[in-house]
Amino acid sequence: MAYRFEGSLTRTDERLTRVYPFDVPEGTTHVNVALRYDPVHTEGATLPQQISMSVYGPHGWVAEINRPSDRFEGGTDIGPDPSPGTPPSHVEPGPWRLFLSTYRIVDVIATFEIDVTFRSEGATPALPTPPTPTDPPDLGPGWYRGDLHAHTWHSDGRWDSPALIAYMADHGLDFCTLTDHNTVTGLPEHLHLARDGFVTLGGSEMSTFRGHMLALGVYERVEWRRPDGTPIPVSEITDAIHAKGGTAVICHPMNPGDPWCCGCRWEHRDMMPGNADAVEIWNGIWDEETREGIALWQSWLDEGHRIVATSGTDHHGMAHHVEAAKRHRVAVNVVYADAFHRDAILDGVTRGHAYVSAGPTLALTAEDATGRTYTMGDALDDAGEVELVARWSEVPAGAHVTWVRDGVREPAGGDGAGEARLRVDPDAVRWITLEVWDDEGAWAISNPVYGRR
Ligand SMILES: [Zn+2]
Ligand SMILES: [Zn+2]
Repeated sequence: MAYRFEGSLTRTDERLTRVYPFDVPEGTTHVNVALRYDPVHTEGATLPQQISMSVYGPHGWVAEINRPSDRFEGGTDIGPDPSPGTPPSHVEPGPWRLFLSTYRIVDVIATFEIDVTFRSEGATPALPTPPTPTDPPDLGPGWYRGDLHAHTWHSDGRWDSPALIAYMADHGLDFCTLTDHNTVTGLPEHLHLARDGFVTLGGSEMSTFRGHMLALGVYERVEWRRPDGTPIPVSEITDAIHAKGGTAVICHPMNPGDPWCCGCRWEHRDMMPGNADAVEIWNGIWDEETREGIALWQSWLDEGHRIVATSGTDHHGMAHHVEAAKRHRVAVNVVYADAFHRDAILDGVTRGHAYVSAGPTLALTAEDATGRTYTMGDALDDAGEVELVARWSEVPAGAHVTWVRDGVREPAGGDGAGEARLRVDPDAVRWITLEVWDDEGAWAISNPVYGRR
């Protein structure tokens, strides 16, 4: 018994899920799903088709097939020894269904074939025991630098976790986060590979057809579609992330989108920013998209939302990304954590006790008349007039440090290291950040201290 689904796709099929039901016979121990499509690229075009698949058994999700087109070869194995992106499982007989997700169809008709085949190897082997998380020695409370967004070969990245961690550690980071698209199968190994002086965090990135969202600190797959393939409203997905104790981050909101990266621009009009916890204002290298991301975030602050700003390398291990990162500014997250542990770092991010920086070091503090202290991410809800104290170092030559108060810039100081103070009436201000810019763009952006205006 086998199934073949075939058809054709055009531009009008972009951002759609097609659902294909099939039955898995009793006694099956291995399922293989093979997708072929033609053409992979249009002639002369740089963009490939952008297609992925998700597979569901009688009791839920069993496989994710979300890779560069050259890795669809040989199909995807589902069973006790599966392909990357798919968790080890005992195959359950009964009604299954396959989602074919078409993000980008390059500007011609594409034909596709999906072959689903079954194999029985008698007694099913025991499932492998996943590696357990490693907690490196706690270095105590402090400011830690790291990345919140990266991919491996469990989705569309080129690296495995050891290569990703080696890259991030070589670049002086204290932590990195694996967030593969729509799967969490890389997390057990990634969390296990933490080591002295280096913490690993995990989550996943949901690739909806109208924008991407990180579910940080959620170690199981987060569903973004209903069984019939229709999308779940993002505010409901965010509620589900919160119910699992996770942090929801709107990714690369001002990505150019079509046709470069279909579904990558944030277009969920009901989530601007809704109940999201954070927005990734700086994705990958500095570019116009980053400038627009910062402007979008600050427009949300102006509207009274209190939402954390983060950065993400979004590393996929491609050689051209590695080269670009050498020549351009890439921001890391500098986070105040109560402990050197994945939960504490994520807690610091969620509280906004963090800034994004491509080099400079920032500090922003205040103390009110009762002796209570505040830092970036905190709200002056009960405070009287306070004096904010900014300190910085490693600000590059030619760059300048500014306060940004409700969108209005006020100079704070120049390059190198320095200190500035600003008296603030919490009733007269909605938000204040500390930022470092030069003519090319930003070097560092703090999370706000919030007033009551
Ligand atoms: Zn993305
Ligand atoms: Zn990503």
